[in-house]
Amino acid sequence: MKLVKHIANLGYGSRRDVQWMFREGRVTDAAGEVLYADDRVEHDAIRIDGEPLDPPSGLLLMLHKPVGITCSTKDPGRVVYDLLPPRFRLRSPALSTVGRLDRDTSGLLLLTDDGQLLHRIIAPKSKLPKVYVAQLADELRGDEAAAFASGALMLDGEKTPLLPAELEPLDARTARLTLHEGRYHQVRRMFAAVGNHVAALHRERIGGLALGELPAGEWRTLDDAARAVLF
Ligand code: URA
Repeated sequence: MKLVKHIANLGYGSRRDVQWMFREGRVTDAAGEVLYADDRVEHDAIRIDGEPLDPPSGLLLMLHKPVGITCSTKDPGRVVYDLLPPRFRLRSPALSTVGRLDRDTSGLLLLTDDGQLLHRIIAPKSKLPKVYVAQLADELRGDEAAAFASGALMLDGEKTPLLPAELEPLDARTARLTLHEGRYHQVRRMFAAVGNHVAALHRERIGGLALGELPAGEWRTLDDAARAVLF
């Protein structure tokens, strides 16, 4: 593929913008030698403003989604893409969120342009654990863990019971909940089903991948080692 098209597909700008980047000498090799649009150069050797290019495909990011931001691309309010460099919104293939978190939920959100990876994470048969911490409006009664673990809990309007989920009380009004599926508003609806209300919700882990100390609103790319701990 021509360099201009390749770089434009990564979201760095339109083909016209990228042509200008070449003219301005912003596209170089690893040694800082200016490249020209007709040069034949490997992806890994290209720098823009001295920075390596994003991976051509298979980009995987983790974002610490703050409360008040939606996972949609169309919402008139603030969306997760507003927290990322504009080029990530312009990439082809597009970067999608791996599932969604509610506007009022914070925590670990993955984004990728890798359709197969996305499917592997969210496919029902993957049963990849997703770990949440819920702050509750009312104190735990003590029977919630058994109800969630039963594999018999039905949510309003659904035809199949929930898979068993693990509840670990952290204090009277806080609990860690591990799910192995992802239904609409699942955590909030589960607590509603046992007579409580989720006041705040945070996702801290997907599979073996933890949000860790990443501050709210920040993101980082994940390398192969991070992918390996995911599954
Ligand atoms: N369950 C919910 O209720 N909301 C989320 O954002 C994620 C899981």
